[in-house]
Amino acid sequence: MIATQLAARGIRDHRVLSAMARVPRHEFVSERYREQAYEDHPIPIAEGQTVSQPYIVALMLEVLKLEPNAKVLEVGTGSGYMTALLAELASHVYSIERHARLAREAETTLARLGYRNVTVLTGDGSQGLAEFAPYDGIVVSAAAPHIPAALVEQLNEGGRMVIPVGPPDAQELQLVVRHEGRPIVHRLDGCRFVPLVGG
Ligand code: SAH
Repeated sequence: MIATQLAARGIRDHRVLSAMARVPRHEFVSERYREQAYEDHPIPIAEGQTVSQPYIVALMLEVLKLEPNAKVLEVGTGSGYMTALLAELASHVYSIERHARLAREAETTLARLGYRNVTVLTGDGSQGLAEFAPYDGIVVSAAAPHIPAALVEQLNEGGRMVIPVGPPDAQELQLVVRHEGRPIVHRLDGCRFVPLVGG
């Protein structure tokens, strides 16, 4: 997976590549998908959601440029796979998921694997999580129709957010960097995520 899906497609950040080599992706999917866990595609999880394709996860992590002391917000915990990777790269991860069952299962998996620097919450994260803001990095794992202003507000100066934006058939991954209080938007690859609900 690391060589053929990530490095071959241009992922260069050593911290990201070694975190992806360390985190056991198969632990975040159900028994019936375990054999496919490292394949080049998304994988279904409960509640009709999916764990993103490894390359998309790596791309999102690479553009975030997280420092080891970073505080991060993740919207859409899902299986907790991305949460584990963020926990490897940053100092603390707050992750919010609207489906209580997914949040509970992710929390259990992360605890079992020994991640102590994560806080998983059940709720609507479409307006972020003001309580623990500001964040050095924000990852949104579900597609929004446009960049939510509340999320930009919760970024530190110089902070970075990666978010899929657009309708289901024409989404684009965007990197938002907060500079002098304003969002600077960089457009990355096309992508396909489940929708961000609420807002
Ligand atoms: N990064 C996850 C991918 C999860 S898919 C992983 O590695 O498994 C996106 C998740 O976003 C879904 O679980 C969905 O329930 C959640 N979601 C959608 N809208 C949300 C919202 N407004 N607040 C919190 N979670 C939301």
